[in-house]
Amino acid sequence: MPRFADFRNSDFAAKNPKRPFRHVQGGLFILRRDAAGPGKAFSTDLPQDYTDVEFSYYLESTGATLTAIPEIAALTVKTNPGLGAVLDDTTVAAHPLSLESVHALDRMQLAGVTRCNLCQSWDRISPHGQCRSCESTGMDRKLWQILAHDWRAHRGGSALLVDVVGSLSTALGAQMFGVTMTTWADLPAQGAFALICAGTSPTPRDAAHLREMLAPGGLMIWPESAETRPATLVGLDPALRGGMSQRLSRVLMTDPVRLSWITRDL
Ligand SMILES: [Zn+2]
Repeated sequence: MPRFADFRNSDFAAKNPKRPFRHVQGGLFILRRDAAGPGKAFSTDLPQDYTDVEFSYYLESTGATLTAIPEIAALTVKTNPGLGAVLDDTTVAAHPLSLESVHALDRMQLAGVTRCNLCQSWDRISPHGQCRSCESTGMDRKLWQILAHDWRAHRGGSALLVDVVGSLSTALGAQMFGVTMTTWADLPAQGAFALICAGTSPTPRDAAHLREMLAPGGLMIWPESAETRPATLVGLDPALRGGMSQRLSRVLMTDPVRLSWITRDL
């Protein structure tokens, strides 16, 4: 990155070559009060369009944790996919907005309105939750909302998609992952995937098989089920972590079932 040598603590990255660094997008940069103060502020040594990246990096180099707030949608003007992948009725602030997207935020607050974040159509989701335009289910839209801006997406990795709708495969394949789409009956025997995404819950046997194909730095995600738990899959492997994720959206009619995930450390 140009000008990186001018970042504070620039040697921290060299000492942590495998560490993925996060970045709070400068359009909506929210700080805890104790994260700023004397000696802790935006750099005055760099041009303005570097300062959000530099301050994000500097905070991480001092041990701070950066996180994303689901209700805040902040992207750069050039980010693909755009806000349409994530905006919903729970969004309280977004960047960058246009006249069209401001209108969309208002429209999502109206009772009975639905929106598909995969094909961007309005009022096409059936009472059973399927989009009449792209056939996405509430789980497909839920997966897309959480994966659209995942940090792994723009590292040129490969993705294995099991039992998801075509529009989700198309979306994840556009400037993000090299996508392999398959079904539970046709799982590959081997591979190394940065993303393994299932639209329906795997059996414990299939989940264990998929875990072995999860590349370092990779994410595996599936709808929660009692028989396939993240903690069981993680086991005693120190490189694996697991957890649950939940975000409900009325306007996207997302599936109420929570998402289970595991990651493999780089
Ligand atoms: Zn759709």
